[in-house]
Amino acid sequence: MAKPIIVQKFGGTSVADVERIQNVAKRVVRSRRDGFDVVAVVSALGDSTDKLIELAHQITEEPSERELDMLVSTGEQVSCALLTMAIHKLGEDAISFTGAQVGIITDNAFTKARIIDINAKRIVEGLRSGKIVIVAGFQGVSLNQDITTLGRGGSNLTAVALAKVVGAESCEMYTDVEGVFTTDPRIVKNARKIDRISYEEMFELASLGAQVLQPRSIEFAMKFGVPIHVRSSFSDKVGTIISKEVKAMEDIVVSGVALNKEEAKVTICDVPDKPGIAAKIFKDIAKEDINVDMIVQNVSRTGATDVSFTVPGQNLNKVIKVAKEISKRVGAGDVKYDNNMAKVSIVGIGMRSHSGVAANMFEALAEKGINIEMISTSEIKISCVVKKSEGEEAVRAIHEKFGLGKKKG
Ligand code: ASP
Ligand code: MG
Repeated sequence: MAKPIIVQKFGGTSVADVERIQNVAKRVVRSRRDGFDVVAVVSALGDSTDKLIELAHQITEEPSERELDMLVSTGEQVSCALLTMAIHKLGEDAISFTGAQVGIITDNAFTKARIIDINAKRIVEGLRSGKIVIVAGFQGVSLNQDITTLGRGGSNLTAVALAKVVGAESCEMYTDVEGVFTTDPRIVKNARKIDRISYEEMFELASLGAQVLQPRSIEFAMKFGVPIHVRSSFSDKVGTIISKEVKAMEDIVVSGVALNKEEAKVTICDVPDKPGIAAKIFKDIAKEDINVDMIVQNVSRTGATDVSFTVPGQNLNKVIKVAKEISKRVGAGDVKYDNNMAKVSIVGIGMRSHSGVAANMFEALAEKGINIEMISTSEIKISCVVKKSEGEEAVRAIHEKFGLGKKKG
């Protein structure tokens, strides 16, 4: 009878050096000896991807994206070969593959390619012949046979996609923390590990800046119902299970608090209140490939209104330039901006059925004298823009207000 298959993904910190690679090898072998067929997906050693990108930038300010992918994909090739050797050393049969070798076919959007198809034949053959299969994460190959990568943190996506294709019963993401936390434990000491969270909530938290998982991988897992277990590679403790929503989750009003400190706010003043103006403004910004996050437009009393929006801080200069041009063209006024903004958000599916959640969040901020500059809400999320210098305090206040910390005693 075929064995159950398990996919285990090991992030950069889990394979940062030889000792850690040997440690990962032991874990993989243990799962194998426990009766699983194992597919392991690895990230590049430690921060080697960052180092490779840095090297490229020492050569040129604007490296070709094709060549960047050619370069950074080598990181994962190193770790998958080393892990395989470490497994051999422990007396088990194992074989490593690149993304191209296992048929991860992508479009040709270098540095952020999308998976189109996976054929996985070699993985299945490898498992059938009794091997542990190790796959280089983060990479694929385009229809033109060019090497592509799946966006930063893309090994997560490789793992989830392979789990789906091989019909794995679970996809374990090994990292250097014990799971997903109610908020960043570096900001709130009392932050608690979440036992179980829905895909939707995890997607929001990851998109809002929680570092553990790449948002795209969660989207994929949600679409195909791949259960994820985020856990530490340094302990045997159960981590966080990410799965589809179950009834009990509704009772949890707020699951987590996220902070993004890289927000900039732009206001175009006195924009004429006529149909088509907003479309013009945001079309021009989109043309520059800039992602606008929150948008706020007030009701106009005098035929003109201020339009404010936030963008990633690193895009501010580009945005100001575009905003000034637009303002002139549509007959609006000054462009004001502030780069020292942070966005604090709460996420929870229980918000759908509980009232007063927003009021509680605002109250938590008010009690600390923190001014809210912008607010946006969706079904399972509320975000407030505050001054960057008050961001962490805002997180602590909100975390406390909703009682998210470890229970004392
Ligand atoms: N090594 C790549 C990165 O650092 C991919 C990954 O770690 O998942 O983004
Ligand atoms: Mg990495």
